[in-house]
Amino acid sequence: MTDFTLITDADGVAVITWDVPGKSMNVLSREAFATVENLIDQALADDAVKGIVITSGKDSFAGGMDLNTLATIRMESGDDPAQGLFDFTMNGHRILRKLERAGLDPKTNKGGKPVACAIPGTCAGIGTEIALACHRRFMADNPKAKIGLPEILVGIFPGGGGTMRYSRMVGAMAAAPVLLEGRMLDPRKAKSAQLVDEVVPAEDLLSAAKAWVLSATDADIVKPWDQKGWKMPGGTPYHPAGFMTFVGASAMINGKTKGVYPAAKALLSCVYEGALVPFDTALTIEARWFTSILMNPSSSAMIRSLFLNKEALEKGANRPPVADQKVTKVGIMGAGMMGAGIAHVSANAGIEVVLIDAAQEAADRGKAHCEGLLDKGIKRGKVTAEKKAQVLSRITATTDYAALSGCDLIVEAVFEDVGVKAEVTKNVLKVVPGDCIFATNTSTLPITELAKASDAPEQFIGIHFFSPVDKMMLVEIIKGEKTGDIAVAKALDFVRQIRKTPIVVNDARFFYANRCIIPYINEGIRMVKEGVAPALIENAAKLVGMPLGPLQLTDETSLDLGAKIAKATKTAMGSAYDDTVDEVIFGMVEAGRLGRKSNAGFYAYDDAGKRQGLWHGLADTYPVAEHQPDLIEVQHRLLFVQVLEAVRALEEGVLEDIREGDVGAILGWGFAPWSGGPFSWLDILGTPYAAERCDQLTQTHGARFACPALLQEMADKGQSFYGRFGTGADSKAA
Ligand code: NAD
Repeated sequence: MTDFTLITDADGVAVITWDVPGKSMNVLSREAFATVENLIDQALADDAVKGIVITSGKDSFAGGMDLNTLATIRMESGDDPAQGLFDFTMNGHRILRKLERAGLDPKTNKGGKPVACAIPGTCAGIGTEIALACHRRFMADNPKAKIGLPEILVGIFPGGGGTMRYSRMVGAMAAAPVLLEGRMLDPRKAKSAQLVDEVVPAEDLLSAAKAWVLSATDADIVKPWDQKGWKMPGGTPYHPAGFMTFVGASAMINGKTKGVYPAAKALLSCVYEGALVPFDTALTIEARWFTSILMNPSSSAMIRSLFLNKEALEKGANRPPVADQKVTKVGIMGAGMMGAGIAHVSANAGIEVVLIDAAQEAADRGKAHCEGLLDKGIKRGKVTAEKKAQVLSRITATTDYAALSGCDLIVEAVFEDVGVKAEVTKNVLKVVPGDCIFATNTSTLPITELAKASDAPEQFIGIHFFSPVDKMMLVEIIKGEKTGDIAVAKALDFVRQIRKTPIVVNDARFFYANRCIIPYINEGIRMVKEGVAPALIENAAKLVGMPLGPLQLTDETSLDLGAKIAKATKTAMGSAYDDTVDEVIFGMVEAGRLGRKSNAGFYAYDDAGKRQGLWHGLADTYPVAEHQPDLIEVQHRLLFVQVLEAVRALEEGVLEDIREGDVGAILGWGFAPWSGGPFSWLDILGTPYAAERCDQLTQTHGARFACPALLQEMADKGQSFYGRFGTGADSKAA
């Protein structure tokens, strides 16, 4: 069986069906590209064929290009990977151009065969680019299906002609949400955006496409850019309107990406340059920019972390080989901010939820929080009233532990207090079935310690959500010393049900994410104390791709939480504790500047709670020094404190897989996504340079930058992290 097959019907319509055997979604491989070209040739050469319909044998049309293909081509191209990638891209252009021209005479634009695309469901990346090369696109009216070009989200851009075709169809400005933001649209929105021409009932999809093919004339199938006198909608760069668009778009991209995402800039350059030349030259320009982006280490790292490895983790790359542990009924202890959020995502995934708090009002408040989130969804058109009713009917808010009977998973999210948690654990274990898995959502307390409240520590585990639960995609699963395989599988299967991304780590102070993010916050505050201008600290962080500067992040998470963690850490660490930043944190707390929640922190806020700018009063206590460090020095301090902690976590066996370290960092705390994560960033820098930088930073700023032995050893041997630990199952550090 091949990925594409051709059957010509009695009316002379050649139906090319894309149906990759053994996959739930079609992805395009190099071999399949060659197959489809043969079928196109066959259909165009066959006099009995009047036109072509390209469709899918699955509910969806396509998930995109098999990104592993790009990695393979690069590897196979030896000394000149750029040439290999460029040739591959140009070959794709040639095939799709052949489809688009469909036998039309180059001089008269006559004599071609109409080609329609019948899209039954979700369609992304190269799937959409194939559709754009067709003459007319029909999509089934399925509101759950989405179509778009999301390449930019993994650090590349549409390189199968999509950039040139779509910008020429709608103009650079209108193309921006699809090309630059990677927005996926439902069929109706896609029709307004001209990604599809007709939205039809699913059962009529093929017949509508065939009917169009049989009635289309030459005039219907010549693309606008192949017609004489064609003008780019919205104007080319030298047209007054086009000029405004491109100047504005350039500023917008730099504002949004802070210049650290090469793909966004390349995409805009590509559209700009392509608009000035004939279409076939424009495709060559697209191929050159696309190759340049594929050769950029940031893009390869983003593809690896945000696409390949994220997906591998979601599919259970580190799941123990035990039977399915799907959750049917979850008990959530504590209906506060986290508990309510966890209840919401669980019920949303079809799981029955018992939401328990100490008082009925608190439990009801938790359920009301879920209702609020569903109402927001309704307002945005993402949730129906029916779905809301269904989700809410799955949540029982109560104080009665008896309701927990039959639960196969408990997620405890009560106060962060060992005593309170132990008591709740004991009481829960009295009423749940013996094989129920007990998970705690603690953010700071050791799992092994908390597991002592249970007689079955092998059934005890950490499932650490991030706030706000509905938005944050990472879930950190923490194994205590005695946690067993079934508990790990249960946690992973639960995370899969609620469609989030898991990482599995071992038990140690602050696990993985908080272990790295706290030093980032502390480094920012430390700089304030040293007299580094707060604006420099914040902007340096953002200019290197961190979503929030360390001071804003402190305001968001609150200074009193910082003080609480500082106190607890000091108690736990004793004399090893570094208290340099405590003075600043405690001083702010004493002054009532707790951050956003008190409308006052490192930033000033107006009465409505809107952030105004950095708080000038800070300079009274911590005057800005006359001499200010370089931007790069500040950025390296902020990034190195995080990545060195990640390396130590790997060295100590807290992290077992560098893929989890990278994916977890980006999804958990927004670590500079352009870099692909801490380990990818160190690979981009090169371990020898990274080790050298550690020495310099240690000399100037202290021992927290000391090069970990693992990094030093790798630097001495000239190894990279992905080179040493690999990218597949062999990426386990152990
Ligand atoms: P919260 O104060 O909003 O909620 C805690 C809830 O637990 C309250 O509703 C409280 O009434 C309830 N509770 C306390 N004792 C109880 C008992 N004996 N029985 C039943 N209910 C009880 O706190 P939160 O922010 O939701 O945090 C809960 C847990 O999640 C903590 O362990 C925290 O460390 C962890 N966590 C918090 C965050 C965050 O950003 N807030 C992130 C990750 C993990």
